Amino acid sequence: MKHIIGIDPEELAEWLAQKSCPSYRTDQILAWIYKQNCTDYTSMTNLPADLKDRLSREFTLRAGRLDKLSQSPDGTIKLLLRWPDDALTETVLIFSKTRRTVCISTQVGCPVQCAFCASGLDGLQRSLESGEIVEQVLHAQDQLDKDERITNVVIMGMGEPLANYDNTLKAVKIINADWALGIGARHITISTIGLPDQIRRLAHESLQITLAVSLHAANDELRANLIPWAGKIKLKNIFSAIDYYYQQTHREVTLEYVLLDGVNCLPAHADQLAHWVHKTRCNVNLINYNPVTETPFQPASPETIQSFMARLTTRGVNTHLRRSHGPDINAACGQLRKQHLQT
Ligand code: SAH
Repeated sequence: MKHIIGIDPEELAEWLAQKSCPSYRTDQILAWIYKQNCTDYTSMTNLPADLKDRLSREFTLRAGRLDKLSQSPDGTIKLLLRWPDDALTETVLIFSKTRRTVCISTQVGCPVQCAFCASGLDGLQRSLESGEIVEQVLHAQDQLDKDERITNVVIMGMGEPLANYDNTLKAVKIINADWALGIGARHITISTIGLPDQIRRLAHESLQITLAVSLHAANDELRANLIPWAGKIKLKNIFSAIDYYYQQTHREVTLEYVLLDGVNCLPAHADQLAHWVHKTRCNVNLINYNPVTETPFQPASPETIQSFMARLTTRGVNTHLRRSHGPDINAACGQLRKQHLQT
């Protein structure tokens, strides 16, 4: 059965026209799905019964089932969704002041297999469809009070979004569209391992989204050790693509850098990072490692974090330390799914 989330309004309008339904039904149905967060056709009270019936026979409304929900004391909620083929993905809802941020996945598992990350431990199972990517935002919205809305979307869950380019971009456009979720592009972030050709393509999408590149190492040798899959992609090429992205969009790129004790946060690493950052307009987001038992890596100590940050700052690098949310509920990418598959 077709998934109604992810189809274009034009396609829905055409389907309705074939059934001799008035065109205003398109807006009504889209509003139920995206504005009212309706989870079942029978609750769409302004639609005639026969139309509700037809819709439920032809289109799945929610394809994902909530398999597990865990909440940490800081409020972070992690949802494990099960898709019709039994594939499992993770979605995380993070509360901070007025923001309600959802972190969504683009693939089941991950092809990149960073040495420190739980998402890719078993490789890639499959890519998600655009509707499955968008639906995660609705499941997160389900968890909020009636008067609250999801304000920000970060595509930083499981998977490599730019290795599932078309579905991810279609999903971003739906999340952004006024007829759907209407979340401003500036409140949407795509995080990538840094695929130069796809970054250049993204630069031409005319979207004011934020691009984040997971750097994690500022020399090619260390990066190839931590991210063997991306070993052939040299920093030179990544930064040239980042510069191209900035030139085209005038959007400053964020570099993500996870701190792995004794591995990538020595003073020399800060100097190497500053060297690259000076080549184009970007800022650095440091995030301390959220330990994954299957890996040998450990988080950096508060002293190491402070001195690494200070060294970057004195070299003129715009640096922020990102707070880690929900480590007590296995909120690091891929950990909840991994644990679930093992039990
Ligand atoms: N594939 C994309 C998006 C998914 S990962 C990318 O690489 O950017 C989102 C971010 O979380 C990446 O920067 C990733 O390296 C980081 N990450 C993964 N596991 C982590 C962990 N255990 N602790 C802290 N950050 C982690």
